[in-house]
Amino acid sequence: MTEQVYDVIVAGVGGMGSAACWHLAQRGQRVLGLERFDLGHGMGSSHGMTRIIRLAYFEGTQYVPIVKRAHELWTETGARAGMDLLYVTGSVDLAPEGAGFVESSRQSCIDHGLTHEMLELKDIQKRFPAFDLPKGHIGLWQPGGGFVASERAIYAHVGLAQAAGATIRTNEPVLDWSPTADGGVRVRTERGVYHAGRLVLTSGAWMDTLNPALAPHIKTVKQAIGWYTVKDPEPFRIGKMPVFILTVEEGNFYGFPLWEHPGFKLGGPHFAREPIDPSQPDRTPSPRQARMLKECLDRYFPQATSEHLALKGCIYTVTPDDHFVIDTIPGVPQVSFASCCSGHGYKFASAIGEILAEIATTGATRFDISPFSLDRFKQAA
Ligand SMILES: Cc1cc2nc3c(=O)[nH]c(=O)nc-3n(C[C@H](O)[C@H](O)[C@H](O)COP(=O)(O)OP(=O)(O)OC[C@H]3O[C@@H](n4cnc5c(N)ncnc54)[C@H](O)[C@@H]3O)c2cc1C
Repeated sequence: MTEQVYDVIVAGVGGMGSAACWHLAQRGQRVLGLERFDLGHGMGSSHGMTRIIRLAYFEGTQYVPIVKRAHELWTETGARAGMDLLYVTGSVDLAPEGAGFVESSRQSCIDHGLTHEMLELKDIQKRFPAFDLPKGHIGLWQPGGGFVASERAIYAHVGLAQAAGATIRTNEPVLDWSPTADGGVRVRTERGVYHAGRLVLTSGAWMDTLNPALAPHIKTVKQAIGWYTVKDPEPFRIGKMPVFILTVEEGNFYGFPLWEHPGFKLGGPHFAREPIDPSQPDRTPSPRQARMLKECLDRYFPQATSEHLALKGCIYTVTPDDHFVIDTIPGVPQVSFASCCSGHGYKFASAIGEILAEIATTGATRFDISPFSLDRFKQAA
């Protein structure tokens, strides 16, 4: 069988991989994107319609330049594709005073000169009537926060990539890859063997199978998201309800205003992570996860019901420190990868696609990705 030849192969066309395909094709590369399932499937990490984006990043200052670039790209790419990808609804972080969460978000806003406002409980109740929070809760309002239409963005990136000449093949998992004597890569699937100068691994929850160097450092866990019937849609509409992250004694939840779905979307608790083997097909949230969402709704959202219209499981690929890994494979610089975004990566996907395209075409990126190196796990060991 003759090998088909490309400049770059992208293994995994989900959130990150679709963006990489577009940025590579835009740079004139001959791109092949290989995807295990249908495009926009519900087995990985990017389904469920929306993902929160916020500029203040209490997780670490290393993320801020990348999220700023991601923000620009969501707007730019949406305009090119003729689709709205970024919705700026404002975001509010809510937690008991002194718990540290709102305080560190505030510090991040101050450090990066981001517009923000501290809210007391009475301000929260007045401005956002969907919430009924316990005494002692405070909030941090950021007008620049919002959400990205995550599934739509995959279609936008792939459509643009194809229009720029990329080949996208679905239901064709990469079985394995090996470096070649010419400094390139040979990639094998059930349907063929391909040769490329560079390989980009964006295989999300299946990253361990293609990237043995990373495998010992990552875990895959299931998260629950639900869309719930509301008694009155008004307090849940964009304008009345921002995206939010809510810390309460039951855990850390997050949610969205009503958008393209009659149900109020609530997810979490963020740290109630249950191991999942991505190769098994069941994505149903556990009874415990469903119960925790129900308890959060019953207690803090009097205008919603806990009757779900949809309840889905989704996968986080997590690292020991909950930070990303964006790097090349040790000793194989022609193979780069990004993933393991520990449940907070989607907002960056547009910029991570660009970073991967820069690495594949020039060997470097203008962003400082040293905090995301694979090496840090060796140093920590
Ligand atoms: C419930 C939930 C809520 C979240 N909320 C937020 C949020 O509000 N904000 C935020 O920024 N982030 C959030 N995240 C995290 C974010 O969604 C993920 O970091 C992001 O989607 C990861 O994208 P990815 O491209 O790595 O994975 P995916 O989009 O899953 O893409 C990986 C792709 O690789 C394919 N693949 C796997 N193996 C192979 C193979 N061998 N060959 C070919 N293809 C392969 C898979 O089929 C898949 O399509 C959330 C995640 C979940 C699960």
